[in-house]
Amino acid sequence: MPDDAPTVITRFAPSPTGFLHLGHVHSCLFAVNAAKAANGRFLLRIEDIDPSRCRPDYEVMLKEDLAWLGFGWEEPVRRQSDHMEDYAAALDRLAALGVTYPCFCSRKEIADEIARAGNAPHLVAMGPEGPLYPGICRHLSRDVATARTAAGEPHAIRLDVAKAAILTGPLSWHDRARGTIVADTGLLGDIVLARRDVQTSYNLSVTVDDAIQGVTLVTRGEDLFHATHVHRLLQALLSLPAPDYHHHGLLRNDRGERLSKRDGATGIRSLRAQGVSAADILRRAAYRAEG
Ligand code: GLU
Repeated sequence: MPDDAPTVITRFAPSPTGFLHLGHVHSCLFAVNAAKAANGRFLLRIEDIDPSRCRPDYEVMLKEDLAWLGFGWEEPVRRQSDHMEDYAAALDRLAALGVTYPCFCSRKEIADEIARAGNAPHLVAMGPEGPLYPGICRHLSRDVATARTAAGEPHAIRLDVAKAAILTGPLSWHDRARGTIVADTGLLGDIVLARRDVQTSYNLSVTVDDAIQGVTLVTRGEDLFHATHVHRLLQALLSLPAPDYHHHGLLRNDRGERLSKRDGATGIRSLRAQGVSAADILRRAAYRAEG
């Protein structure tokens, strides 16, 4: 391979909200195998922007379990909560493009609005994961929005996807499992970029981090396939490179259903405690993780 050939860089990006389980191991193996197959690099990233759900001791245990399974990664590990300034900078850039707006709605107000519009279904767009944000605050005048923000009213920041898509024009990305995908940038509606309580969001942080870390191949579960449409939009708005993607199937039980707690012990700690070996766990998790 010539020296200047682009290196494949993959990552596994768990959130420390609980113990490492078989689904995680499946995803991690997938990323590791994809890096190995290309003689590339593998990174671990800790996605801990949500202080109400993430715990430092879970992070310690995730790493301990991954190491016990024989995984290795490059240090230092990027921990999202240490890099809030990177997400703030991206948010400023999007605001400067005029594609963001403050959203003062509570969950209840959004649910009420959706229920009201339920009588007139053409008023609420359905996304693949449920009804989309009905755009209440998108229609606020700039003066009202500024006054409410200045008065300290709690708010999230949303992306005006229709405006954003006009700026970027048509977009696509490459998925190793599905080929060229034309981005349907409005698929998830006006997503939250910064939450009320945390000045970023999964969608913003993951897009910024993959670019900062030079990730060239994003491997992750197909449950995040829809999110990639909007990640592609954020990349274009922020002038970030578009990595390759490979959305992999989720680990399933014998009945073909997605693994859940009902399938018994899938936590690596409890499997370990039962005396299951690392090799055995890797074998169970390897199903469809060939990268
Ligand atoms: N932190 C996300 C999760 O645990 C993974 C995000 C990603 O791979 O893009 O589901």
